[in-house]
Amino acid sequence: MKHFSWPKTLFVCSMLFFLEVQIGWSWGFWGHKRINRIACFTLPEEMLPLFKESLEFLTEHAVDPDKRRYGVDGEAPRHYIDIDHYGEYPFENVPRNWDSAVAVLTEDTLMAYGIVPWHVARMTGWLTKAFESGDKTRILRTAADLGHYIADAHVPLHTTLNYNGQLTGQHGIHGLWESRIPELIGEDYDYFVEKAQYIENPLEEIWDIVLASYLRVDSVLDLEKYITAELPSDLKHSFEQRGETTIKVYSSEFSSEYNRAMRDMVERRMRQAIIGVGSFWMTAWVNAGQPDLRSLENHAQPEEEEELEKKFKADKIKGRYHGNTGSEAIQQ
Ligand SMILES: [Zn+2]
Repeated sequence: MKHFSWPKTLFVCSMLFFLEVQIGWSWGFWGHKRINRIACFTLPEEMLPLFKESLEFLTEHAVDPDKRRYGVDGEAPRHYIDIDHYGEYPFENVPRNWDSAVAVLTEDTLMAYGIVPWHVARMTGWLTKAFESGDKTRILRTAADLGHYIADAHVPLHTTLNYNGQLTGQHGIHGLWESRIPELIGEDYDYFVEKAQYIENPLEEIWDIVLASYLRVDSVLDLEKYITAELPSDLKHSFEQRGETTIKVYSSEFSSEYNRAMRDMVERRMRQAIIGVGSFWMTAWVNAGQPDLRSLENHAQPEEEEELEKKFKADKIKGRYHGNTGSEAIQQ
């Protein structure tokens, strides 16, 4: 059995006040940063010298994979899987293992409908290798990226063809669920989460997460319809000023009624994502033989970062939109 210990005191509370909200950039960024950040506090004591010291890095770089979608071919499918393309729950016709899935469904099809579970499993192996290498930069970059994809897998609308309600006349629901609601009430969420747990089989675990997300898709869509029918139609949207632009958003009244109807599903999935990220990080470290993280080499690669930032600012998103901005769908 693995040996590690836990910090005596939780230090989540004091850190929350430093978290920022990036209005206008999307919850995607807000939520991902928060998930990676708080995941650090679920880790065993032996991992804290690195993860606590690198809190800012892991927070800021939680959104690198979304930035890469602007410049890197093949990035987009890593963020989702439209699992209902393949039939019905529990999708037994989709082999859980990558090689078998390629053999049965072809790689082109897998890339077309998303590969998040396979990518998470693969990256967990990369993170183990990074821990073995002792390269601090490699560990942190891999951990930050992995945290992003795990968080995406917890979002129900990242597991369906109807990812933005476009098939059911609910266009914009993606941003409502993962951006507007947390932006409005995410500060009040309860972030005291359990400790990370060792995962015996990361591939099986990420598939369980994806299937759990998918099981919530019907509620996400049906309850939005229900609240739309319940509330007077002029209360559904409101207008907000974002910089120079006036944008149409879901009203706070509609958003909070919808959230109430879902019984805080967004908060519950976010808490699960935090534990999930911590657990995958810890698992990769344990599988690497629990290396000492107190004095690692730092190999900075600033030019890579600059390149990413440049592409993000200049380029159009590659691959189809999979929901990141809370208001894009109904922007004026
Ligand atoms: Zn993403």
